[in-house]
Amino acid sequence: MIYKSGDYKNSNYRCKCLVIGTGAGGSVAGALLSQHGHDVIMMEEGEFYTRESFVPDVGDSLSRLYRNHGISPFFGRPTVNFLEACCVGGGTVVNGALIWRPEPWILDRWAVSHGLTGYGYADLERHFITVEKDLHVETPKWDPDKNLNSLLIKQGAERLNWKTVPVPRAAINCTNLNRCMAGCPAGAKQSALETYLPRALKNGVRLFSGSRAIKIIHSQGVAREVIAEVREGCRKKRITIHFDELIVAGGSVQTPFLLRRSGISKLAGRGIQFNYSLKVAAKFDRAVHAEASTPFTLQVQEFLRDGLIINVSQFNTMYLALALTQFPDEVLNNVIEQRDRFALYIGFMASLSLARLVNCFNKSPFVWYAQKQADFERIKMALRRLATLLFESGAVELYLPVAVERPVCSLSELDELLNQIRPEGLDLVTVHVMSSCPMGTDPQRSVVDLDGRVRGMKNIVLCDASIIPSCFGESPQGTIMAFAHEVMTRQIKRVGC
Ligand SMILES: Cc1cc2nc3c(=O)[nH]c(=O)nc-3n(C[C@H](O)[C@H](O)[C@H](O)COP(=O)(O)OP(=O)(O)OC[C@H]3O[C@@H](n4cnc5c(N)ncnc54)[C@H](O)[C@@H]3O)c2cc1C
Repeated sequence: MIYKSGDYKNSNYRCKCLVIGTGAGGSVAGALLSQHGHDVIMMEEGEFYTRESFVPDVGDSLSRLYRNHGISPFFGRPTVNFLEACCVGGGTVVNGALIWRPEPWILDRWAVSHGLTGYGYADLERHFITVEKDLHVETPKWDPDKNLNSLLIKQGAERLNWKTVPVPRAAINCTNLNRCMAGCPAGAKQSALETYLPRALKNGVRLFSGSRAIKIIHSQGVAREVIAEVREGCRKKRITIHFDELIVAGGSVQTPFLLRRSGISKLAGRGIQFNYSLKVAAKFDRAVHAEASTPFTLQVQEFLRDGLIINVSQFNTMYLALALTQFPDEVLNNVIEQRDRFALYIGFMASLSLARLVNCFNKSPFVWYAQKQADFERIKMALRRLATLLFESGAVELYLPVAVERPVCSLSELDELLNQIRPEGLDLVTVHVMSSCPMGTDPQRSVVDLDGRVRGMKNIVLCDASIIPSCFGESPQGTIMAFAHEVMTRQIKRVGC
């Protein structure tokens, strides 16, 4: 049953397991716990939207499906905007549905650096298989004639001898609407709304939408209840939920914020890691009709070990305009007029510099970020690699995420620009945030142990992007869901819940 504003008649509720958050991690937790016959409440701050309600308008979607209308900055020099979902289904509702298994060497690295025994490739493989089956993950076939934006960079990469790989996605019968970020109205994208949440609801889960956990009450290492705020029309009301076991999956910023606000972990949120999304709009010498193309067809993984991955991005006119907000109106208007010749590409680059939660007394988290010089140099290197590929692929103009008034038309122009820019001139965004409460064996560096249990607490488990030991460059949902399966398997074994 889904509770919405007006359905919260009582002030007190009770369940065996309370799950906070319904995104990539929380939805898995709710489905698995309820499958084992447990009485589960899932709490979600965002509202419940069905696929019929998803609209193409980006502004409308940002205000309904994202936290703070899509503006959750990591303040610093430069400021990085975190696009964070806030709706039932969390990030899975608005994301691109790229589902990757992490490379085995990444899991091996975590075994050494964080002591993650039991999380090697052989240990997690069964979870990757389950997740891929549950989400109907496939590598879609794309027609080169109808996907010039992909074909051109595939050919460019081949000429440069750079490695490309096709992209596995969680989608059934995708009709190439290119509206993933605003929720899939066709239900093709296999978000939590189409997969784990219906399963959880069928198993009897009570899903409290529009309900924000504001404090965990605990004593002697045991969490006793959660105080939450729910909407009652235009007023807010507090409810209390009592439980035996608490699973927190609010995402990489909200999870540590809740723990710190509740006086549970001083280490939580001290080292938030993320991938930069470096979006570049490319104009070609011919029409590429990117709007009708298959979204996210291939990746250039030549620089994976350096933490850089280049993607063909989905495209529509609004996303194009959104990527060009730093350019003057006349440039923007010109671009929109010639949009058939444009395509969008993204470089994901793992940041080496950490962001951190600095104030947990306010109602909302304040995240501070100090970029290291090394990252600034790596971003410039990433932009040069993107530009090298795109010019090689036939692009004639590149619109970079940098405060400039005009596009660059050659590598020499780009080099001139990169020599002049300063960190605050970068227009930076992230959609992949993780590792704020890392798992590990060292109590000085890890917030949760290998069972996902918060140190010092008997009955709080974390089950979201926050526990991923470190940022690894790639899209993280597949890894988050595999970790969530392992953590929940251990939880069910450990306490029968
Ligand atoms: C635009 C975009 C595109 C992306 N594309 C991809 C992609 O293609 N592939 C990929 O692998 N990853 C992608 N990602 C990232 C991926 O979606 C996230 O890494 C993933 O969803 C994180 O999972 P999570 O469970 O940690 O948190 P989320 O999925 O964000 O879920 C957390 C949920 O908890 C709720 N919540 C938070 N605090 C509270 C509270 N106090 N009380 C109640 N509820 C709370 C939030 O509202 C949210 O719904 C993308 C993300 C975005 C935004």
